[in-house]
Amino acid sequence: MVTVEYESVKKAYGETIAIEDIDLEVDDGEFTILLGPSGCGKTTTLRCLAGLTEPTSGTITLDGHDVTNVHPKNRNIAMVFQNFALYPHMTVRENIGYPLKVADVGKEERENRIEQVAETLEIPELLDRDIANLSGGQQQRVALGRAIIRRPAVFLMDEPLANLDAKLKISMRSRIKVLQREMDITTLYVTHDQEEAMSLGDKLVVMDKGHIQQIGTPDEVYHQPVNQFVAGFIGSPSMNFVEVSHSDGQIQAENAPEDFDVTLDDAVVKRYSGTDEMTLGVRPQYFSIHTEETANAVEAEVEVTEPQGDEQIVEVAAGDVSLTVVAPSTIDTTRGDTVWLTLEDELVHGFDPETGDRIG
Ligand code: ATP
Repeated sequence: MVTVEYESVKKAYGETIAIEDIDLEVDDGEFTILLGPSGCGKTTTLRCLAGLTEPTSGTITLDGHDVTNVHPKNRNIAMVFQNFALYPHMTVRENIGYPLKVADVGKEERENRIEQVAETLEIPELLDRDIANLSGGQQQRVALGRAIIRRPAVFLMDEPLANLDAKLKISMRSRIKVLQREMDITTLYVTHDQEEAMSLGDKLVVMDKGHIQQIGTPDEVYHQPVNQFVAGFIGSPSMNFVEVSHSDGQIQAENAPEDFDVTLDDAVVKRYSGTDEMTLGVRPQYFSIHTEETANAVEAEVEVTEPQGDEQIVEVAAGDVSLTVVAPSTIDTTRGDTVWLTLEDELVHGFDPETGDRIG
């Protein structure tokens, strides 16, 4: 059991700064997710901890010991990759047992531990199969087995579910969560899939352009995003952003002054006092759609409806402002209809239009 700490870690490749100012603490046994768009520096952050990439500056400590320049083999860290990186010419048993063989663990103990790991991952019947004949999900379990057999102090996973189909992804996701809880191993897990991140992590580290944007629980990053980037990245469909002018609680969209003209509740207005221009953020789930004219509502025209079973995603236009709304499937609207949208005042977000930082 180990705590991990990054202090001012930076990695540059020539002119390209992959990561910078990375300050991060991961508690003992915690499941931490590094999340962000492609190229934001997630993998580099993970590789620096594994010792596969040498930081340009900064320090990384494991349980208070500086490991920044310690050889990967001496860090007691196991890593699982997106492509599994299994040895194709070996059987499942040989793959899982390989780290113990390298560590000179005797044959009997090795066999016992292989059996144990195979039981945990429910793959004992696969032990003598060749890797090449396994499905993606089975290969993934073998990769997990090879990683956990050493009982590492820290477990690193880089998009381990990216190559699996949607259904398998969800079942492997819960398996990984249970395994992490049972083994109580400090874990860092990289994904660009915010749904995966929300469902797995104790703590989310949201990254963009090589920098950490926010660290928080899934609930915190969803409900209290610190800036427009985090607000837009977390949540599906993405949050709507509308440039508005604001005066005494009256909100008017610059591109749709007639249509998008609503009065916010007094309690909400206080949060934005002194702000006359802002970017309003409203999640698609926090609009209600009405087919009859409604007071204090945004008037809009339906452009597209996408049925999703119990819900539908409705794309509308209020003047030149496009909005996405999630509505119950019972609401009957079609392209060209006029609808009225009310919003749940207390759940709106305000952002500085210049910096993107949260206001209020
Ligand atoms: P993805 O989700 O696409 O894997 P990522 O968030 O994991 O992306 P990184 O792989 O850490 O991002 O890359 C961060 C930045 O550093 C990118 O701009 C990338 O091109 C650059 N980079 C990463 N590795 C190298 C390298 N070996 N040489 C040069 N540039 C690199």
